[in-house]
Amino acid sequence: MKTVTLRNGVRVPALGMGTWNIGDSAARRSDEIESLRQGLEAGLRVVDTAEMYGNGRSEELVGEAIADVRDDVYLVSKVVPSNASYDGVHKACRRSLKHLDTDWLDLYLLHWRGGTPLEETIRAFEDLKDDGLIRGWGVSNFDVDDMEEIESLSGNCLVNQVLYNLEHRGTEFDLLDHDLSTDMVTMAYSPLGQGGELLEHPALKDVASRHETSQGPADPAQIALAWVLRRPNVMAIPKAGSPKHVAGNLASLEISLTDADLKTLDSAFPPPKRKVSLAMI
Ligand code: NDP
Repeated sequence: MKTVTLRNGVRVPALGMGTWNIGDSAARRSDEIESLRQGLEAGLRVVDTAEMYGNGRSEELVGEAIADVRDDVYLVSKVVPSNASYDGVHKACRRSLKHLDTDWLDLYLLHWRGGTPLEETIRAFEDLKDDGLIRGWGVSNFDVDDMEEIESLSGNCLVNQVLYNLEHRGTEFDLLDHDLSTDMVTMAYSPLGQGGELLEHPALKDVASRHETSQGPADPAQIALAWVLRRPNVMAIPKAGSPKHVAGNLASLEISLTDADLKTLDSAFPPPKRKVSLAMI
C-alpha cells in the first residue's frame, strides 16, 4: 500500500477514511460503523473527523467504531477557529477526546485559519503534546503564505489538509510543490468531489474503461482516487458510508494511471496556469 511519512517519522497509509456527515442518521449508523471497521481491517489506519461534524456526532460514531482497535488507528480530529485560543483549544481537545472515548489524538488540526494569532494556537498544541493528549498537530485550508507563516513559527506542523480533486486543481500551481519541498504531507479532502458530478464525467468513465481491479472493471471513483494518490507526499481521505464503497476505494490502490490516462484527464480538467486562491468547502 502506498504510504506517506510525516515529518515526525510516522509512516501512514496514503489512503485514509473521512467521516463528515456520518453519525447523522440512525438508519445508516450500522453501515457506517461497518464501513470504518472494514477499512481498518484492510489496513486503512487513518480516520479523519472533526468537532464540527454533526456537533460531535461523527466523533462519537468513530469512537464506537474504533473502541477495541484504538491502537491500530491513526486518529485525526480538528478544532474550529472559534475555539483556537489557548484555553479554547484545551477545552475543545478534551471534549473531542470524550466524544471519541479515547485518551489521545494522533493528529490535531486547526480546521481553517481564523482571528486567533497562530502563535497562541501552536502554544496550545505543543502543551497538549507535552501532556500526551495529542501526538502531533497540523493545519487545514492553509495556502502558501499561511504555510510560510506557520513554518516561520514552528517546525512541528505535520500536515496541511486541503481540498484537492480533479475539479479543484488550483493547489498544483504552488501549494502542493511547496508542501512537498518542506516535507509537509498534504491530506486531500473531498477527493471524490463529494460523490457529485465528478463521478459522472465522461473522461473519468473513459479512463475507467481502460482499467481492471481485483473487484472487477474500474469505476470513476477509483480513477478519481488513483489520480489524487499519484502525487508523492499526498494522501486522500474519501468518506464512504457503505462497505461496498470502502472496498471500491481500497481497490483504487491497484490502479496506476498511464501517461495517456493523465492526458485524457488533463484535457477534461486542465491544470492551473496561474495562481488560484485556495478553494475550500
Ligand atoms: P468525498 O469526496 O470523500 O465524497 C464522499 C461521497 O462519495 C459520499 O457521498 C460517498 O457516498 C461517495 N463515495 C465514497 N466512495 C465511493 C465509491 N467508491 N464510489 C462511489 N461513490 C463513493 O467528500 P467529503 O467531503 O466527505 O471529503 C472526505 C473527507 O474529507 C470528509 O469526510 C472529511 O473527513 C474531510 N473534509 C475536510 C474538510 C476540511 O475543511 N478540512 C472539508 C471537507 C471534507 P457514501 O457515503 O454513500 O459511501
